[in-house]
Amino acid sequence: MTERASPSSPQSANAGQADQDRLHRRGLMFILSSPSGAGKTTLSRKLLGADDEIMLSVSATTRPPRKGEVDGKDYHFVSNEEFDRLVEEDGLYEWAHVFGNRYGTPKGHIREGLKRGQDYLFDIDWQGTQQLYQKDQQDTVSVFILPPSLDELHRRLTERATDSEEVVRGRMERARAEISHWAEYDYVVINDDVDACFAKVREILHAERMKRTRQTGLIDFVRNLMA
Ligand code: 5GP
Repeated sequence: MTERASPSSPQSANAGQADQDRLHRRGLMFILSSPSGAGKTTLSRKLLGADDEIMLSVSATTRPPRKGEVDGKDYHFVSNEEFDRLVEEDGLYEWAHVFGNRYGTPKGHIREGLKRGQDYLFDIDWQGTQQLYQKDQQDTVSVFILPPSLDELHRRLTERATDSEEVVRGRMERARAEISHWAEYDYVVINDDVDACFAKVREILHAERMKRTRQTGLIDFVRNLMA
């Protein structure tokens, strides 16, 4: 059992909520999806910075790194041949073609981590979300982030001075396609104000952690309670 696995003593100063927080629980796979420009990257960064029980599941991709991206941190940047090998060796939880490149979630230690109570954040598209659901519905929680309007999305995309008008048009088209999958998600949050949206995303995560089925330490706790 890990540190968090031991049921706390009933005499502890902060009984109640604190006791519950120390009970062992199973980790979850927390998926954030959105069209590009809806603020998902900002939300992911904020969440990883604010919550030390969740870590990013770093995807493998065949797309070349963008400026400032770090191999092993933002993505595992791999060649087409390396990606083929990962697929052949069954080394990916899910994978998909997105915008002409391939992206996938390496299996790594996710299953082991979930057992220990480690949560993982996934920044993946609707195709990956569907695959994770098919493989492991119980451990999956998905949140779709919507922009307040398509005009606002267009404004946010054109603000990124790096993209040409043609690239922006392409992104807008893909945004519509991505948005059409909103109803496949457990939760949908409109990102009108990033702080308000972030607060909602955290509430979802907190509530999902408290689900009875994830609190695997409850059986022992209640047994001791009744002894
Ligand atoms: P970008 O190239 O802008 O980093 O990501 C493009 C899209 O690929 C985003 O919608 C992102 O969510 C998606 N994506 C990133 N990693 C994965 C992955 O491992 N699996 C799937 N299915 N999609 C991913």
